[in-house]
Amino acid sequence: MKVAIVTGASRGIGAQIAKTLANDGYTVVINYAGNEAKANEVLSEINNNGMTYKCNIASYQECEAMVNAVMEKYGRIDVLVNNAGITKDNLVLRMTADDFQDVISTNLNGTFNMCKLASKIMMKQKSGKIINMSSVVGLHGNAGQVNYSASKGGVISLTKSLAKELASRNILVNAIAPGFIETDMTGVLGDNVKEAILNSIPLHKMGQTEDIANLVSFLASDKANYITGQIISVDGGMNI
Ligand code: NAP
Repeated sequence: MKVAIVTGASRGIGAQIAKTLANDGYTVVINYAGNEAKANEVLSEINNNGMTYKCNIASYQECEAMVNAVMEKYGRIDVLVNNAGITKDNLVLRMTADDFQDVISTNLNGTFNMCKLASKIMMKQKSGKIINMSSVVGLHGNAGQVNYSASKGGVISLTKSLAKELASRNILVNAIAPGFIETDMTGVLGDNVKEAILNSIPLHKMGQTEDIANLVSFLASDKANYITGQIISVDGGMNI
């Protein structure tokens, strides 16, 4: 049995990652923040002895309780996908300190919390794969997103540092930098914003959740056993 934890797996990219990893044969832990019905829907589609677990990844204590529950039930963690993330966009003069901190706490501290807890277990196993979700915005910045871009830039640096720390233990750490993927997160954008984004994408279309999940599937697999510390863009060419 191989076990994967996917944070933020009740909707969007995370839900598709959970389904794809289940299809690859993993027992999948579907983490979510509050959307229990959606998380259960994903589990029922997978139906492979997986579990749902409600936990706010910004809280170290809650993450610890989740990892303990996973270890009690399955006894191992082979893959951790740090996918959960939020946006609270605004121009810097209108952005509150709380909106800055909330996004950092979820996207960056949450990733740290789960990496720390899972790597302790993976070190004992002498194997593991960690895949963190960054963003094109973490590479290039974006007006109106100083909080989100700082969090995703932080995820990139965290990924590189952790890959160096854990390589000798056979734990591989990589990040994916999606461009614009059709989910609830991008569904809230206005038509004019979407049009401007489309014009900045060489392939001139939004990505689908499968485009990200397929790369997770590859990075989690033995086919990617010589890849670590990389930030891989899946963005229709935005990062060219
Ligand atoms: P989404 O549709 O908004 O879904 C977010 C998921 O994260 C939900 O499952 C949500 O759970 C969960 N979540 C939010 N806060 C959480 C917390 N504190 N603790 C645990 N779970 C939490 O997002 P998405 O578009 O699929 O994005 C997934 C990841 O890809 C994010 O890290 C995002 O920044 C990144 N990304 C997305 C795009 C894009 O174009 N969509 C582009 C670049 C990067 P509930 O359902 O319970 O609320």
